[in-house]
Amino acid sequence: MANTTAAPNGGKPRVLIAGAGIGGLAAALCLLERGVECEVYEQASELKEVGAGLWLSVNGARVLFALGLEPEIRRATLEADERVVRLWDSGKTWWLYKKGVTPAAHAPFVMLRAQLHRILIDALERRWPGTIRLNARCTGYTQDANGVRIDFAGGGSASGDALIGADGLHSKVRETMFGAMPGRFTKALACAGWCPWSASSRITAIPRSPPGSAPRRTCRPIPPAGRTRI
Ligand SMILES: Cc1cc2nc3c(=O)[nH]c(=O)nc-3n(C[C@H](O)[C@H](O)[C@H](O)COP(=O)(O)OP(=O)(O)OC[C@H]3O[C@@H](n4cnc5c(N)ncnc54)[C@H](O)[C@@H]3O)c2cc1C
Repeated sequence: MANTTAAPNGGKPRVLIAGAGIGGLAAALCLLERGVECEVYEQASELKEVGAGLWLSVNGARVLFALGLEPEIRRATLEADERVVRLWDSGKTWWLYKKGVTPAAHAPFVMLRAQLHRILIDALERRWPGTIRLNARCTGYTQDANGVRIDFAGGGSASGDALIGADGLHSKVRETMFGAMPGRFTKALACAGWCPWSASSRITAIPRSPPGSAPRRTCRPIPPAGRTRI
């Protein structure tokens, strides 16, 4: 990646963002909407479908609505019947959301991570093309009184007034700031499987582990992508 430097921008700050995941892209949209110049540096060579289903909480959705993305979010959302918390040892169950009972305004937004990611990418590309720089793997940063410089694998750097580390679980920004933090296996595992959407009508009930069977064992449906799979 070639060197880029903070351009004189009428005294406005320039923010560097490491990582074009949900966090980095949403931060970039918020900053640009407020007139703050920024650039997002992503290690991947292309932005493609990654991840499974997610529940977007109502407060998160409000941020995206404020960015003018309500129509896209609503189009991507699957209407949820219920959102339930269930204790593994007693089976005690309570609803965080139940269609027809909970106010509709509290309905969670269920979608694929890839759909949310695409909505954010498209919004950035449409409004501020060129904001996302691919093939830019951050290896660390340095800072002084004049600002911050982010370094990239294979040479090159970029300079700005502030740096946001949105580079995920193995963040190089965090490592530079706090030192290496090796992961710790918590023995909690998540497995995902897919079946064709056309076969989903044969699923009459989502299987759940019986009370007391195993801690943290559960099963949850993942929303369909383009109504082709679930
Ligand atoms: C099984 C599972 C289920 C989940 N379910 C939900 C859910 O239902 N609802 C919910 O809200 N959240 C859910 N989450 C959490 C959610 O997915 C994460 O919190 C979220 O994706 C984190 O976003 P992020 O932008 O911080 O990081 P990421 O999405 O991990 O993005 C990081 C980005 O930075 C890039 N990157 C990494 N290193 C570098 C580098 N050195 N230089 C440049 N770029 C770099 C990566 O390529 C990636 O594009 C779930 C997570 C898991 C694991």
